[in-house]
Amino acid sequence: MNTHKAQKKWGQNFLKDTTIIEKIMASVPRSKHAVYIEIGPGKGALTEGLLALNRPVLAYEIDRNLESTLNARFNKAENFHLIMDDFLTRDISIDIRDHQFSEFDVHVVANLPYYITTPIIRKCLDLANLKSITIMVQDEVAKRLSAKPSTKDYGALTVLSQYYAQIDYLFQVPPHVFHPAPKVHSAVIQLTIKPERILPVDQEKTFETFIHQCFKQKRKTLINNLSSEYANAKDVLTNYFDKEGLNPQTRAEALNLNHLVHLFQKISLKTQH
Ligand code: SAM
Repeated sequence: MNTHKAQKKWGQNFLKDTTIIEKIMASVPRSKHAVYIEIGPGKGALTEGLLALNRPVLAYEIDRNLESTLNARFNKAENFHLIMDDFLTRDISIDIRDHQFSEFDVHVVANLPYYITTPIIRKCLDLANLKSITIMVQDEVAKRLSAKPSTKDYGALTVLSQYYAQIDYLFQVPPHVFHPAPKVHSAVIQLTIKPERILPVDQEKTFETFIHQCFKQKRKTLINNLSSEYANAKDVLTNYFDKEGLNPQTRAEALNLNHLVHLFQKISLKTQH
């Protein structure tokens, strides 16, 4: 029997409940052109269902002690491609090219270690041909990602994720379906990448910096957060709030994605030239 001991340092909480596994699998998009990227297959709880979709599965696992378990379970599947490495430091585009998956639609599936949720999502968003990300995260993070303006969970991560994708909170997952059980509830969310983005690609990194600055100190007003970095911020914001009938004390959390993109175009672009 498998004697692998769950490693805390790699956020190992293995799924053991088949009903939840089936529920996650049912929400994974199907496509004749898909390559599925699985981050952290563990012992293969989700991998099995992914392989059954009869499309290539590129799985990244950091824990070398899981290699033999995974190979023993799936080595007969021709569509199984295991890469024993850290997803965060690996150049994924090279793997995609080397496996000749460059023409395929990329769908990411993962039951993630909680502490690397943000960098993993950030990295996935840069993958060429990315179409969707279906991931298990800490419930609190799921709520933040799918939050609406003027709620306590709404922040920079929300706005940036919503810029790139439509975000659906699919369902909550209780601790007892994992081994070992985590202390908090989890949730499965899905990011469906928007086919067209509002800004030109070469402005997107500047936009990310702008959004982080908007939410830099959550309790401060937008004018306060931006004035130190952008010369014309105060004038632009004062005019804008006036026109929209908003209070000059408005904080970033009150503004939706479209408002923030509009302000970015007026503020950061003007001050850069
Ligand atoms: N998918 C399995 C499941 O649902 O039972 C395991 C999920 S467990 C929460 C997270 C998995 O991610 C572990 O197998 C862990 O070793 C792996 N992992 C952690 N950090 C990683 C990284 N940076 N790159 C690749 N895999 C990683």
